[in-house]
Amino acid sequence: MKYPKLRELLEAIRAVAKGPYTSKFPKQAHVPHRNFRGQPKFDEEKCVGCLGCEEICPVEAIDHEDVLDDPEGPKRVMIHYTDTCIFCGECEAACINDHQGIKLSDEWELSLFERSEAYETIEKELVLCEMCGEPIACKDHLLWISDRLGELTYSSPTLYLTRLRELGVVDENLLENIPDQGRSDRVKVLCARCRRKTTLTTED
Ligand code: SF4
Ligand code: SF4
Repeated sequence: MKYPKLRELLEAIRAVAKGPYTSKFPKQAHVPHRNFRGQPKFDEEKCVGCLGCEEICPVEAIDHEDVLDDPEGPKRVMIHYTDTCIFCGECEAACINDHQGIKLSDEWELSLFERSEAYETIEKELVLCEMCGEPIACKDHLLWISDRLGELTYSSPTLYLTRLRELGVVDENLLENIPDQGRSDRVKVLCARCRRKTTLTTED
């Protein structure tokens, strides 16, 4: 006959005194352990829509869609597929905004009748190039960069115009009256390609 090991014996005694390790779910609501790694959740306020987590996710559980023709303005929809996620936490570790844009939660009850409903989304305001209309970045991402650059923000019209618009101190009428297709186009919110075009142009 094999005798139980000391550790197993101690655990059995502890279980008699403290009750079983398993919970009485579904009779009683289950409270996960404090170190439980549950489904990651986006924080709409703290996520800046940089797509870093989408790049790092090993199973492509994060995706995005840029909606340019929304009546309320262009937006980036960040999508987390809860049925694909393996709860590895790489997205949280890689998040550029102090690991706060997406965080593992203690949510564990994820069953659904329809697998197609197994996703969650947040929306971020998107900034478009004022010449070609292509997406540049989310407004919060440009402001995040500007915060880190400090006064160097004023070396990039895209950054300082986004910052000044946020402060409500840009005269849009003045900007509209500046002639197009010349060097004056540099004082606009531009993508890298259009910035290069306006910088290298020979027209006045
Ligand atoms: S926890 Fe891992 S698998 Fe899930 S979204 Fe984050 S990086 Fe992807
Ligand atoms: S801010 Fe964080 S959560 Fe948001 S897109 Fe970037 S890496 Fe992902």
